[in-house]
Amino acid sequence: MVKLIIRIDDVHEKMNWKNFEFFTDLLLKRDLTAILGVIPKCEDSKLIVSTYANDFWPRIEKLVEAGFKISQHGFRHVYDSHGDTLLLGNTRSEFAGLSYKEQLNKLSNGKRLLEDRGLLIDTFMAPGHSFDLTTVKCLKELGFKYITDGYNLWPYSVNGLKFIPQLFSSPHGLNFGVFTTCIHLDSLSFEQMELIVHQLDRYDVIPFQEAVSMSHPVYIPQSISNYITRFFVRGFRGLRSLIKK
Ligand SMILES: [Zn+2]
Repeated sequence: MVKLIIRIDDVHEKMNWKNFEFFTDLLLKRDLTAILGVIPKCEDSKLIVSTYANDFWPRIEKLVEAGFKISQHGFRHVYDSHGDTLLLGNTRSEFAGLSYKEQLNKLSNGKRLLEDRGLLIDTFMAPGHSFDLTTVKCLKELGFKYITDGYNLWPYSVNGLKFIPQLFSSPHGLNFGVFTTCIHLDSLSFEQMELIVHQLDRYDVIPFQEAVSMSHPVYIPQSISNYITRFFVRGFRGLRSLIKK
């Protein structure tokens, strides 16, 4: 069976709260967990779609107790920079292109806000998949261990941080390695969310904590598996967008 991690992006106090409750309830009913990308101080106007949810932090606590993993999804989720990124080339970003000091400042402020809520933060999820090697250096300095992103079929390491790859936005994968499905809940209907969870029956949904203990095969150079995965995933995405047109 395909090993799959569920990753939910853009989690914050003013997200589509009804959708978040509905989807996480569906997962809890099936004893499934996910990694949540929590934005420490969301100021991205596109993502502010409801009033402040009073139940937000108690629900996060409840999900952590049920085995969900919390990752830091940027700081403000505002793309006020531009630079060469590790995964996407030159693009808009909250981090890439900024100096070490500027990035360290944003990342440490965000981490502190989440830790003040009693959360253990050792995993980073970059807004827009957009970050550079300076981001990785800052994360290491701040005690992060994992990044949920990257082109590969197995977890791999860059400059002392372990990357748990993320390739698709719906459940897909092969019977080896580990795959991450990246879900944005705000715009989904209840039917679409039910369909996603229904599709998960065909997968071995594993907690993020299990994936971090997996290793890249020693007989395959990491640079080769990165390159081949990137090549095929980009081809797959290109083909899918052609079919949709
Ligand atoms: Zn995001």
